[in-house]
Amino acid sequence: MNPSQTRNFCIIAHVDHGKSTLADRILEHTGAVTAREARAQILDDMDLERERGITIKAKAVSLDYEVRGETWKLNLIDTPGHVDFSYEVFRSLAACEGAVLLVDAAQGVQAQSVSNAWLATEAGLEIIPVLNKCDLPGARPDEVAQEMETALGLEATGMLQVSAKTGAGIEAVIDRVINTIPPPSGDPDGPTRALIFDATYDDYRGVVIFVRVHDGTIRTGDRIRMLGTKTVCEVEQIGQFRPRPMSLKELRTGDVGYFTAGIKTLHEVVVGDTVTLDKTPDVDPLPGYKQPVPMVFCGLYPTRNADYPALRKALDRLSLNDSSLLFEPETSDALGFGFRCGFLGLLHMEIIQERLEREFDLSLVQTAPTVSYEIKVSSGETFRIRTPSELPEDGNVEEIREPVVRGSIVLPADCIGAVMTLNEEKRGKYIKTEYIGPTRVILTYDLPLAEVIFDYYDRLKSVTRGYATFDYELVGFIAADLVKLSILVGGSQVDAMSAIVHREEAYRRGRELLVRLRKEIPRHLFEVALQAAIGGRIIARESIKALRKNVTAKCYGGDITRKRKLLEKQKAGKRRMKQIGNVEIPQDAFMAMLSRSTDERSSKRGK
Ligand code: GDP
Ligand code: MG
Repeated sequence: MNPSQTRNFCIIAHVDHGKSTLADRILEHTGAVTAREARAQILDDMDLERERGITIKAKAVSLDYEVRGETWKLNLIDTPGHVDFSYEVFRSLAACEGAVLLVDAAQGVQAQSVSNAWLATEAGLEIIPVLNKCDLPGARPDEVAQEMETALGLEATGMLQVSAKTGAGIEAVIDRVINTIPPPSGDPDGPTRALIFDATYDDYRGVVIFVRVHDGTIRTGDRIRMLGTKTVCEVEQIGQFRPRPMSLKELRTGDVGYFTAGIKTLHEVVVGDTVTLDKTPDVDPLPGYKQPVPMVFCGLYPTRNADYPALRKALDRLSLNDSSLLFEPETSDALGFGFRCGFLGLLHMEIIQERLEREFDLSLVQTAPTVSYEIKVSSGETFRIRTPSELPEDGNVEEIREPVVRGSIVLPADCIGAVMTLNEEKRGKYIKTEYIGPTRVILTYDLPLAEVIFDYYDRLKSVTRGYATFDYELVGFIAADLVKLSILVGGSQVDAMSAIVHREEAYRRGRELLVRLRKEIPRHLFEVALQAAIGGRIIARESIKALRKNVTAKCYGGDITRKRKLLEKQKAGKRRMKQIGNVEIPQDAFMAMLSRSTDERSSKRGK
């Protein structure tokens, strides 16, 4: 098909504003799936995605659409909206000329509506603003259209009003995609250049590479070269999702699709790299997208030491689909052999951990997340550390610099006071207030990332009754008065539990932490001492009293099933225990650093 009849676009929005539902309606309307085949959020095909109701991987679908005697090819890329997955949005943008920006007409503009709109604008995409959920009784499309004009500079008049749920207005969205998004430019006769925007691993076919062809053609049997990695290989299968995989002979200029090339080792493929033919090695690379930098780190250790090679293999696998997942071997006195892993944010971390456990059947102990720090020593040298135990203790540290983010909080005006108080407590620096409507505001603050990952989301949600949304981007590393807080259990320092905290916070955090550890660590046959220390000086202590009786003692003479149940429960608990000295510490204790109340940790963070 002629590139002038092709439209490459993505749907961007704040989480839950209806991207996946709109994608379903577009698939139905174009006849790619029948209403009978259609199930909700058809593009979210991973189990985990279905259970959590969120989209993790961007998916590209090619649709043929016939209207008024013309046939169009629409390449639609569904994107996730959570702040942790903005790297998925970057990828999608690099493969598109336009974006449909969905905003929930009841909820109005939210933090990720703003950040995604900026990303799309920066990438030079045509933006089609669409008000969704207009079927809801609480929808206020005209007001929200005005908010979009104020906050995003998009023309309020004539903005499309739809319901992705009922399908009302969907045809108008597709018409606007066809009429306002430019066709792919690029030279069909020029040397081949295609951008790799994603890759997955398939047990049978090896690495499956997703590309957007910018110039020329890729055919089966072509010898291709990847400019960055210098990998040379032969194209085996080519295809597109429509939405089921369909084999093709070639991908032409403007097309989005996938190919396999017998690549077996995952590290030969880098997302953002340019594919060309082996005979044209001198073409200019396409601009790759911005490589995201992991900012949150934690240790992952197998509960059974023998699972270490399996954990390495699983991380290898996941990192192919996710170029922002970093990992390197790490040893801990307490936990043995494991990996230090880097993530974009907490949700990203939780999802990776859950996928490791579910898809690879691993049982893991995870240490509390920490940010990376920049350390300046007296020789003038600076370096980054990813775990508090890497902080030199020889007194040569001149400065500890922590990552600071610029946070945008979209909230109802009557919550401004409460959020400002919270931000002060979180060592935030006020930047500005902007009104986007009579009662809705964007507050901008610079905040230490360490405070954001600690319990910021939960606190922000609670002080705004759930109404505030939050997004952030890194500003840089800034010096602060930080110290290392160490934890000792039964007299031995637990490296995996040390933390870098602000000096003024150290006492409070140390005391709070010990109280929580006392609850998490079960009683032993002897008394267990818990201590918190700064630079070798003990600042707080607690103790766990010795256990007097065997756990089954109270069942003597009693019901045998109850006794068995208790023992089984004990056994299940043990699987997640780690031995430190002669003290057994459960997984939850390693997470106690994370939040004020571990119970509140919700898997739906950010939703
Ligand atoms: P995403 O996170 O942007 O992909 O959002 P989803 O497509 O998963 O939708 C989030 C929720 O909003 C789901 O429960 C949808 O059923 C619901 N939803 C989506 N579009 C509409 C709409 O037009 N009207 C109503 N009433 N609900 C909608
Ligand atoms: Mg979705």
